Amino acid sequence: MRILTLLLIIPFLLAGCGSSDSESAKHDDSDMMIYTSIYPLQYFAERIGGDKVSVQSIVPPGSDGHTFEPTTKELIEVAEADLLIYNGAGFEGFIEKAKESLKEQEVKFINSSAGIEPAGDGEKSENEEHDQKEHHEDHGTEDPHVWLDPLLAIGVSEMIKDAMVEEQPELESEFEKNFDQLKKDLLSLHESFQKVVDEAEGNTFIVAHSAYGRWEKRYGLEQVSVSGISPSHEPSQKEVQELIDFARSNHISHILLERNISSNITEMIGEEINAEILYLSNLESLTQQQLDQGEDYLSVMHTNIETLRKALN
Ligand SMILES: [Zn+2]
Repeated sequence: MRILTLLLIIPFLLAGCGSSDSESAKHDDSDMMIYTSIYPLQYFAERIGGDKVSVQSIVPPGSDGHTFEPTTKELIEVAEADLLIYNGAGFEGFIEKAKESLKEQEVKFINSSAGIEPAGDGEKSENEEHDQKEHHEDHGTEDPHVWLDPLLAIGVSEMIKDAMVEEQPELESEFEKNFDQLKKDLLSLHESFQKVVDEAEGNTFIVAHSAYGRWEKRYGLEQVSVSGISPSHEPSQKEVQELIDFARSNHISHILLERNISSNITEMIGEEINAEILYLSNLESLTQQQLDQGEDYLSVMHTNIETLRKALN
């Protein structure tokens, strides 16, 4: 019902605003207009584009990136963009619908994780209704939170840079220069991360939702999550008891919560085992408070590393 409404409304609303001459109009605009699905992609695009691009994220501050759905009005705004950069790997619940709704528009969809590893193809029959949990299970152990690995983030940024160069080839040298600087920052972030892991006593942490599979793969850490990969999944009483037993027998003294996802069960487990509560950011969105304080991808990742330093020692 909702999809049908979108399909009917969007072409109608756009017909009136002269989008047919957008091909010539597009390049007269000085700024390339980019929408990203989530915050980290916005950060990478802003670093690469500098003052030559205007970038906005679709998932708003403080939201859970898995289940967020843009409204029709928001999708109509996206239709004005040159690029829509998304994470892919089955992360965004709304992306297929957005593609369908915007297929008559000029906006180019860029799957920024496509170059990183062979993606699960994510194909489904069109009529199939599925929730995020099912969707993620289709992707097996592939964790879609690729931006949390600084080295994979370099590959993601390179995809974004290439798409921007294709859009505005005359700015190639500027985009390349900015990308090189970003790459240096991401490499240095990786080195800090590796150092903390090398010096840590333990490697296991308990966290609300399992966004950190990429840290397991890259740094040999082990996340034990309360809700699994989809934040909306509630664990059974038995699973909760197993987590409590696990924490006790492994002398876990910290519990990691996430500010964009409330998890009463995780807090309850923390109280039960008398653990100190710390916060990790999965960066699916920044909170309004983080934005107000001028935090960005790099500063939040450094805070995450410091949080791990506490939680693993
Ligand atoms: Zn997540």
